[in-house]
Amino acid sequence: MNILQKTTEEQRLRIEIKRLRQQVNKLKQANIDLQITLETTVAHGDCIEAQLQEINQQLQLTISGYHQKYTTLQSVLDIISRQKADLEVILQTTVEHGDAVESQLESLNQKLKDEVQARQQAELKLKSLLQIISQEKTDLEIIMQTIIEHGDAVGQQWHDKALYAEYLANIDGLTQVYNRRKMDDTLDREWQRMAREQLPLSFILCDIDNFKAYNDTYGHALGDEALRQVALAIKSVVQRPGDLVARYGGEEFAVILPNTEKLGALHISRHILLAVEKIYLIHARSEISPYLSVSIGVTSTFPQPGEDFLQLVNAADEALYAAKTQGKNRIVFKG
Ligand code: GH3
Ligand code: MG
Ligand code: MG
Repeated sequence: MNILQKTTEEQRLRIEIKRLRQQVNKLKQANIDLQITLETTVAHGDCIEAQLQEINQQLQLTISGYHQKYTTLQSVLDIISRQKADLEVILQTTVEHGDAVESQLESLNQKLKDEVQARQQAELKLKSLLQIISQEKTDLEIIMQTIIEHGDAVGQQWHDKALYAEYLANIDGLTQVYNRRKMDDTLDREWQRMAREQLPLSFILCDIDNFKAYNDTYGHALGDEALRQVALAIKSVVQRPGDLVARYGGEEFAVILPNTEKLGALHISRHILLAVEKIYLIHARSEISPYLSVSIGVTSTFPQPGEDFLQLVNAADEALYAAKTQGKNRIVFKG
């Protein structure tokens, strides 16, 4: 090695030494810093440890809070999972029965539509009914008002009408004497009354002789007229207030004679026979007289309480039958 080479090597070594010294200084300084840090750490060690414990506690509390929340969340999650499973089942069922449900819904829908329509129609009907009813109400109010205003006159009219209706219900339309209904009522009532008062009651049945032949010969209209004439003739004889003349059947008449015994009843019967004869209605086909005649059955009794007035009718009927069989145009009495 020559001198130049030695010098260069020496310089390089010096530079290297210098660099190493600098490194040693840096390390010394780092060592000092570390020592300071170590001292500081040792000095504040307790404080830091306490802080760490507190932080640790808080962390534990937070963790336990999170744990509780987690548990709650877990149970909510369970419920939701179950509900989800249920929904899936329902969904599956719905999908499976989709068509049936759809058709049911359709028919339900149709029913609802029908019902709505029916209700609408019913509502319309009700409305028109309501209209009619309110119109009728108005009419009734007017009638009411009129009745109130003319109350007395209307009352009298109704009374007259009622009397007339009662008259019509009891009268024979053709002959204008009482009808069978009125006769039955009167006989029943008089039977009771005579029984109470222990008075006699007589009953007469008159039947026009050969009246069929009369109708056949002169026609039904003249037959009707003959019935009217006979009724008038009987009425002209029977005049006491309690007496009653009634049309008993087709060409039969009945007479009720309260408080009349046998002799009186026979007397009236003879007058009836004569009065009919004296109408002088020609009856060319009568077997027993040139004029229209009647046969009469009479009865008379003292009614007994509790007994039936029909026995009186039956007795008169039997007497009438006897008058017919004995030759007609006559009177037969049966007690
Ligand atoms: P008899 O002497 O036995 O009583 O005979 P009759 O012909 O009178 O009796 P019958 O019972 O055979 O006939 C009764 C007739 O009375 C029959 C019917 O033509 C007539 N007659 C009944 N009611 C009416 C009526 O309201 N108007 C008329 N014109 N004739 C009547
Ligand atoms: Mg007869
Ligand atoms: Mg007759």
